[in-house]
Amino acid sequence: MPNPNPKPEELVQIDYQPSGKGWADPTVEFRKGTFCYSALPKNLNYLGLPNPREWQPFDADWKLPADWKRTILNGMKERLEKFRSFRLFMDICVRCGACADKCHFYIGSGDPKNMPVMRAELIRSVYRRYFTAAGRLLGPLAGARELTEDVIKEWFYYFYQCTECRRCSVFCPYGIDTAEITMIGRELLNLIGCNINWVLEPAANCFRTGNHLGIQPHGFKDSLDFAVDELEELTGIRVDASINRKGAEILLVVPSADYFGTPHYYTFLGYLALLHEVGVDYTFSAFASEGGNFGLFTSHEMIKRLNAKIYAEAKRLGVKWILGGECGHMWRVLHQYMDTMNGPADFLEVPVSPVTGTRFEHARSTKMVHICEFTADLIHHAKLNLDPSRNDRWNVTFHDSCNPARAMGLLEEPRYILRSVCNRFHEMPENTIREQTFCCGSGSGLGTDENFEMRMRGGLPRANAVRYVHDKYGVNLLACVCAIDKATLPPLLEYWVPGVEVAGVHELVGNALIMKGGKQRTTDLRGEPLVETEAAHA
Ligand code: SF4
Ligand code: SF4
Repeated sequence: MPNPNPKPEELVQIDYQPSGKGWADPTVEFRKGTFCYSALPKNLNYLGLPNPREWQPFDADWKLPADWKRTILNGMKERLEKFRSFRLFMDICVRCGACADKCHFYIGSGDPKNMPVMRAELIRSVYRRYFTAAGRLLGPLAGARELTEDVIKEWFYYFYQCTECRRCSVFCPYGIDTAEITMIGRELLNLIGCNINWVLEPAANCFRTGNHLGIQPHGFKDSLDFAVDELEELTGIRVDASINRKGAEILLVVPSADYFGTPHYYTFLGYLALLHEVGVDYTFSAFASEGGNFGLFTSHEMIKRLNAKIYAEAKRLGVKWILGGECGHMWRVLHQYMDTMNGPADFLEVPVSPVTGTRFEHARSTKMVHICEFTADLIHHAKLNLDPSRNDRWNVTFHDSCNPARAMGLLEEPRYILRSVCNRFHEMPENTIREQTFCCGSGSGLGTDENFEMRMRGGLPRANAVRYVHDKYGVNLLACVCAIDKATLPPLLEYWVPGVEVAGVHELVGNALIMKGGKQRTTDLRGEPLVETEAAHA
């Protein structure tokens, strides 16, 4: 009987020897620690999704709708016609194996069905059986499989063991993006009510209140007021953080974890300090109070529904452009889907920094700029007075969050900022950073406690690279620009590399920032004692 709470020394004993069970056998064991619990009926009801009911993945009877098979096959047909990439990815894999050992879940679990090529094969085999002549005629000889309830359970198990990180696609000579296959797989499962609560609860909250945490407008205002008060205590400066202010130049949209989570909140204080210091005219929106979008982990239709509020609020408030905070999947949606799903945003202007005059041409279509792009531009134009020694208690490395790195190419700006605000910075090995970065292991809605073992397995390659710089250079802080990372990397590092903490890039900016008229700082944004240097008051 496997230990439900394995220690690191047990978990690191990974068996890469295939079990001998044929790949076509779909049976899976829903073992505690390796899967996520089902979505609550109330959340399906909020979102108008089919088949709300009480069930769990370990139940023998999943209470599927009577016509579940026809629903899935019709759904596949519709998506094969609608998404050219889906049909292409079903047809062109040559099984070269270049992706096989690139997935963190395979590396951490040794389960062959966590090889990206095999994950895709789970759905491709059904595609062959029902949508190709060879599969219809030759069946298993052509790699085709019948669609059965066990196949549905297998899909659920493995499509919720993929964080849609896209690392595998970097290595595929054909550019097959297994994340997109997982997205379609999850979308199909949603048609028959097979979904997980950790995805649908935030999505339902977001649909109802505009943010994942379900915070209502008065709660949002309270948190903002609290942050403004706390920043004043720390810096001696009272900043103005307005909500729903019509006519502001910029709408600021951040992940909601930034105003409640730890360590996210310190990043939030960093934004407030920075934007005040350079005199930016911005407002938050109480409705577009979330940049994150768990629709990405549900369906394309849900992405669109949850994203629509951002342009709608930008229009209502009459801003010129939108500035976005530190988040991962938020940027995948904003960069790759928002403009075509809910745009064109022709009522907005091409973003121009009011401080430096830089015109962000790359944001010409979305009208949305990442706060790291904005801050890197400020530093480049010498608009910030920075004292990196205020971050001297940290020896820093940078984790490229999958979506900002691979989905939008945000590689240099965070590094440029970190080198400007910290004195000690060390990169992890090059095959673990930038486009080749390893996922936290808990993205795409898999960051639940019930899934803890699989999260620790999936996060092992990331943690291993952190361990390398921790042991070699004494790194004690992992900086990142993703709200999910900030929630999931602390337990991962506590498990695999105790002694390394996690922070957002703008927390370190906020620490280093010398604010005009500020009091002598005695603590950093975490309230930890700070040794003030002469540079601060020169
Ligand atoms: S690298 Fe691409 S072509 Fe090769 S097995 Fe993987 S998905 Fe198929
Ligand atoms: S997208 Fe990421 S998690 Fe999914 S199969 Fe590829 S490497 Fe693995």
